[in-house]
Amino acid sequence: MKNNIYNFSLKALEEYFIAQNDKKFRATQIFEWLYRHRVTLFEKMTNLSKKALEHLHEHFAIERLNVEKKIVSSDGTTKYLFRLHDGHLIETVLMRHSYGNSVCVTSQVGCNMGCSFCASGELGRIRNLTHAEMVLQVLHVQSELDATNERVTNIVVMGIGEPFDNFQTVLDFCRTVNFAKGLEIGARHITISTCGIVPKIFEFAEFKLQVNLAISLHAPNDELRSKIMKINRSYPLHEVMEAVKAYLAKTNRRVTFEYILLKDINDTTSHAHQLVNLLRGINCYVNLIPYNEVLTKEYKRTLPESAQVFFNVLHQAGINVTFRTEHGDDIRAACGQLRAQTMKEKKR
Ligand code: SAH
Repeated sequence: MKNNIYNFSLKALEEYFIAQNDKKFRATQIFEWLYRHRVTLFEKMTNLSKKALEHLHEHFAIERLNVEKKIVSSDGTTKYLFRLHDGHLIETVLMRHSYGNSVCVTSQVGCNMGCSFCASGELGRIRNLTHAEMVLQVLHVQSELDATNERVTNIVVMGIGEPFDNFQTVLDFCRTVNFAKGLEIGARHITISTCGIVPKIFEFAEFKLQVNLAISLHAPNDELRSKIMKINRSYPLHEVMEAVKAYLAKTNRRVTFEYILLKDINDTTSHAHQLVNLLRGINCYVNLIPYNEVLTKEYKRTLPESAQVFFNVLHQAGINVTFRTEHGDDIRAACGQLRAQTMKEKKR
């Protein structure tokens, strides 16, 4: 089978051409065609020699993702359900903000982290996404936006999956979408969200990328966090905080803590005060997230009044806190639900 050209990072493609006794810059040329001009035929790569084109035809394919479903909300939020070559389904979301267009990218088919409130974990991890499958989510959305001369300006790796459980691919993905002669999405406009795989946070810090790091906290103490997030039994809060401090020291970047407000679970003023204590002295933002209720889960969304009280406690303690704005309310199917729902329909 021919190799999908999108599976190559720039470095891997350079190494490939060097091994072929060709020029290293061939890789940059091809990357420009794929990610800046977004061509889908080798013939359109007009600055390549006939010999190079023949070689590409013989050994590579240009294969995009298949759209299984696309739903557009009244606020412009667009959810894509893509079908992969082996039949698995993944979700991607385009969100429109005043500051630009952000794409929420999936990193795995399913997820092994098993957070109790999350729909994505219900089926477990089936496999990691490849470099192609990750970059093509963004490239597909960008190609649609090309029609109106718009750009994808931001990326959040917050779709299905745990990005640090697919570490190398996610790093390569960041480099590819950041490539200056390609999609050119600034590193500071990319956010990776992790449930807190501590050794990977340390490793990530070493790369000193300008990519933003977000930690899914969701509870201010170990007892509660271990109850709702399985990962906390392996990596308790003090270890997560140590890793975050190391990250801050290495990168000088602020981290974001995500905190879903779950009614009567983690949303009392006592929880808010515990959170203030936990985050004391740490250069961070806190993003309070309204829970998207999942049909198969008992958790409920915190009422707006209680959410405001929680917010106020953090704000008054001097923490940079924001509410996450919601997108695509009317199309529901949040956080893995579109996939789960479609899979159930297919089984029937
Ligand atoms: N595995 C990574 C990234 C994917 S989840 C992580 O845990 O960070 C992205 C974010 O959505 C996480 O903060 C996750 O806890 C949150 N999330 C999961 N299910 C949700 C739901 N039903 N409503 C709101 N947020 C949810």
